[in-house]
Amino acid sequence: MNIILLGAPGAGKGTQARILVEERGMIQLSTGDMLRAAQTSGTEMGKKVAAIMDAGQLVTDEIVIGLIAEQLDADHGEQTGGFIFDGFPRTLAQADALEALLAEKGQGLDAVIELRVDDDALVDRITGRFTCGDCGEVYHDRTKPTKVPGVCDVCGSTNLKRRADDNEASLRQRLMEYYKKTAPLIGYYHAKGKLRVVDGLQDMRAVTADVAKALSG
Ligand code: ADP
Ligand code: ADP
Ligand code: ZN
Repeated sequence: MNIILLGAPGAGKGTQARILVEERGMIQLSTGDMLRAAQTSGTEMGKKVAAIMDAGQLVTDEIVIGLIAEQLDADHGEQTGGFIFDGFPRTLAQADALEALLAEKGQGLDAVIELRVDDDALVDRITGRFTCGDCGEVYHDRTKPTKVPGVCDVCGSTNLKRRADDNEASLRQRLMEYYKKTAPLIGYYHAKGKLRVVDGLQDMRAVTADVAKALSG
């Protein structure tokens, strides 16, 4: 099964993707994570996108489509539950490219889950977010703190990080980009009969339950 998680920055895409990986052996393809990894490892591409990402703008379609194409061809070992596209596609051009890449492999999309949240909730979600730099677990100061302050519950690492773009000014810009370039995908996938809307304002477990329902229905 191949699915897309669609939603504004902070809607809960990464959080739900990790649960699907854990529970169903799916493969999470997050273009945001891939771009941040390129920055950390200091590649030319990483350097090129850093300023764009900090400003909350979208990087070019060409770059993210290239990253996804690479991952679709990669060996993902024992994980065979299908792909979760997290934060991709974000433009109609990316959506078309994804369909073509999957078709080349004789595959398609099974569902597009929109995690719907109010903009008002996003400032709190984004400014409270931190992640484990070692295992990628996603935390929140208030809604999902670590059990021991400063220590990752999952892997015990103390390498907890906040993103440079997780501030209110960058969020405003990211939201603009979302409404201008990404929100049109909601209508697009609805017309294709693929869209399932889930209320992303519920607590994490209720969202997970509704995602499971959306995938079975
Ligand atoms: P969030 O978790 O806030 O939704 P992501 O981690 O998915 O953010 O993305 C962070 C940044 O990486 C985006 O603001 C954008 O600059 C860049 N980015 C990620 N995915 C894409 C994409 N599919 N197309 C263009 N830019 C992207
Ligand atoms: P996205 O990948 O869509 O940008 P994340 O999964 O990173 O979103 O979630 C953004 C922040 O909100 C994180 O700090 C996460 O712990 C928190 N969060 C995610 N889902 C919920 C939820 N249903 N209720 C409360 N907080 C949540
Ligand atoms: Zn960890």
